[in-house]
Amino acid sequence: MTLNPEARAMTLNPEARADLEKLLGLLIADAAAEGASDVHLNASPLGWRLRYRVDGALRNVHELPASIRDAMPTALADLAGGRIVGQLRTHDHDVRFSCVSSVQGPNLVLRLLEANRVPLALDELGMDADTLGRWRALLKHPYGLLIISGPTGSGKTTTAYASLAEIATPERNVITVEDPVECIFDWAVQLPMAGTFPDTLRSVYAQDPDVLYCGEVRDGETAETLARMALSGHQVLTCLHAPEPALALQRLEAAGLAPALLHSAVSGVLCQRLVRLLCPSCRRLDKGEACEACHGTGHHGRRGVFTLWTPDHADVSLKDAALELARRGEISHEEALRG
Ligand SMILES: [Zn+2]
Repeated sequence: MTLNPEARAMTLNPEARADLEKLLGLLIADAAAEGASDVHLNASPLGWRLRYRVDGALRNVHELPASIRDAMPTALADLAGGRIVGQLRTHDHDVRFSCVSSVQGPNLVLRLLEANRVPLALDELGMDADTLGRWRALLKHPYGLLIISGPTGSGKTTTAYASLAEIATPERNVITVEDPVECIFDWAVQLPMAGTFPDTLRSVYAQDPDVLYCGEVRDGETAETLARMALSGHQVLTCLHAPEPALALQRLEAAGLAPALLHSAVSGVLCQRLVRLLCPSCRRLDKGEACEACHGTGHHGRRGVFTLWTPDHADVSLKDAALELARRGEISHEEALRG
């Protein structure tokens, strides 16, 4: 993987502040064009190692000179009002950045969030027909707590947005509390964060909601608020970091949600992860020939794997769902077992 020529030329002349800002813009545009979700800059003996995270895996791209490594964090902090964790906006992306001083030198990570993201349709996510039908039925239900769970970077927000796109209609008052807001819905009231999630959720009750989407549930207070809303006749949707449905329920219990409340409120746990598809081009190449389509990684593109737990129906585990894709030859056996 290599950096585009314009950005590469810029790295040779990084002295002026305007140049650093332009270089940053070029790096973001280049990373986005490569389909990267994150840009990593790690200090190395020679300068700054540039890597992109594409399809969930990091790829080495380029080595930037030490002069950029030493000047860029200050330039970035100036742009973001002196902060080392902050947000930048280009015309296509909202970029969240974090800079820390490592033993090797400054370490910068940029997370690229698409501005004005358009939600995918639910049937574009790779859900099998049975799971899709059951999930849609749960979404249509007037009340209940629906959890989308999976590890970081497993596409939970994509699924949440695709689900909201189906239920945010003129007939229902949909309220969202999320940080960051990545997608604007026509028929939703999207509240900015005011302090913590529990703080922001307090203002929702008086807004006569039918549906509440809470971007994440990390603490017991949020979990309890969502469960009580679900039991008082609201459809509640949220995302949780847990790799299997049973673990999602355990996490809520560990956060302090009473088991009786938990089990009466939760109407479904959709668990998911993203798996890397085998590169279709590599199969046509002779052994030893470099594959340009996947930069020699053997993988190209991703799809979701899903399992849906409901109180009356325990689906296969997510691992078994992934192994089924391996049996069909869509992904490698190693990829199925990776999650
Ligand atoms: Zn390939």
